[in-house]
Amino acid sequence: MDREQFRKAGYAAVDRICDYFENLESYDVVPKVQPGDIAKLIGDEVPEKGEPWADIAKDFDRIILPGITHWQHPNFYAYFPANTTFECILADMYVGAVSNPGFNWLCSPACTELESKVTDWVAKLLGLDQSWCNEGMVGAGVIQGSASESVITVCIAARERFLRLHPSTPFSDMVILGTTQTHSLGAKAALILGFEFVAIETRAEDEWALRGEALEKALRELEEKGKKPFILIATLGSTSTGAIDNIAEITAVTAAHPSLFLHIDAAWGGVFLSLPECRDEAFLDAINARAVKGAEEGAICAGGEVHSFCTNLHKSGLVTFDASCLWIRDRTLLTTALDITPPFLRTAQASAGLVTDYRNMSLSLGRRFRSLKIWWTLRSYGVQGFQKHLRRLVELARVFERELVREVEGVELFTNRRFSLVVFRVLPLPPSSPSLEESNALTRALTTLASHDHSLMLTPTTVGGTECVRVAVGSGFTEERHVRGLVGRLQALIGEAREEVGK
Ligand code: PLP
Repeated sequence: MDREQFRKAGYAAVDRICDYFENLESYDVVPKVQPGDIAKLIGDEVPEKGEPWADIAKDFDRIILPGITHWQHPNFYAYFPANTTFECILADMYVGAVSNPGFNWLCSPACTELESKVTDWVAKLLGLDQSWCNEGMVGAGVIQGSASESVITVCIAARERFLRLHPSTPFSDMVILGTTQTHSLGAKAALILGFEFVAIETRAEDEWALRGEALEKALRELEEKGKKPFILIATLGSTSTGAIDNIAEITAVTAAHPSLFLHIDAAWGGVFLSLPECRDEAFLDAINARAVKGAEEGAICAGGEVHSFCTNLHKSGLVTFDASCLWIRDRTLLTTALDITPPFLRTAQASAGLVTDYRNMSLSLGRRFRSLKIWWTLRSYGVQGFQKHLRRLVELARVFERELVREVEGVELFTNRRFSLVVFRVLPLPPSSPSLEESNALTRALTTLASHDHSLMLTPTTVGGTECVRVAVGSGFTEERHVRGLVGRLQALIGEAREEVGK
């Protein structure tokens, strides 16, 4: 394709994308394809001769679109959302044009400096204080591909920190600590890095959050077994129910355990800190508090503070996948763990300590230029637009919650709504003293029936043995009529589930 062909194809692509959004609601949320259907339509070999662009572009409609699960669809309520915006689509085009692997300052000054600036912007937007920012080159913000990648990255930093404090500790004694509500990223990081993952039980009466007492007990038990927890992954907004671990209680305990690195996984929930009404100031104070003990010896010895924090702008934060923002209080914890500088990567600017080389805060060398789409989105929406988007999601979830409970008999909220997430289960009628088996059977029947309905998408979960349904409102295209429609559809499906289960 030459430049003039690109110009024509580019204009046509923008038209096609606009048509897609115009017709979004007419698609099934979940495509009616069977495993292998799409693969069958794709040739087995690279074509011997190049094909005309018109034929290639047509295959987006013929092959790809029929196999797309529409995450932007107004009736997409599964997992957590993956927002996109036109600003991001445009930014990705420009990023494609300059194709910049952003591993050090010299190879991409704009990419590097913009990344430092936008992560500072986002930190301030969420209420994270100066200690998290790049300004001053002590703290750091770095954009990763996912919250899972962020966790693996900080686990490596935490491992090296622990080994500097306790040299020659056998890896077999070292454990990654989380809770039963920690996203599977904790267990996966442990698997990849060769450690055990220990999950602390959380309780319904604590709304599934980690409390200080449970942490203290777990640390005591691990010590008795000779185990050495080197990182605790706390959560702000768990996947199943939106649980928020009690950071103030946790840091009160970790103050006496300075070797324990504390990471907050706020993959979904973090962006809601930008809303004053969703921001618990005590919680924020606990995130921003500095260690009292050990601080004078440097961050490596500091216990009782949060060391790193991650949120995904690519969930509810209006930025197209992928844009996982990771902040760390002491950037040297990352750079001492991850800096390997062969001669060909040496630069005068880095040797003089003048610049950030993001390769030393990331698992990979080459990295995507992700900061442009964040910058453009935040400039285009502004703080007010960003907040308005999130407030809309929260309000829609509130409407859904209210209408569900009011309109559908025998539905019980499993936990309090958290931001834009509603979790419920179905009880037998009359719902006097339902057995867990009965309610699980009904809820399971509902999720099975819903999974056959291609016009919407929900996710089931199980918490403490109770089967539930999650409704995560998140598409920028969802309106009140959609969530009211969802209540109506659920009412019908719950009726069918009752007939099936006989309750
Ligand atoms: N943490 C939480 C609380 C999540 O809900 C999710 C995904 O939904 C993740 C982590 C994983 O995010 P990622 O796909 O960016 O690794």
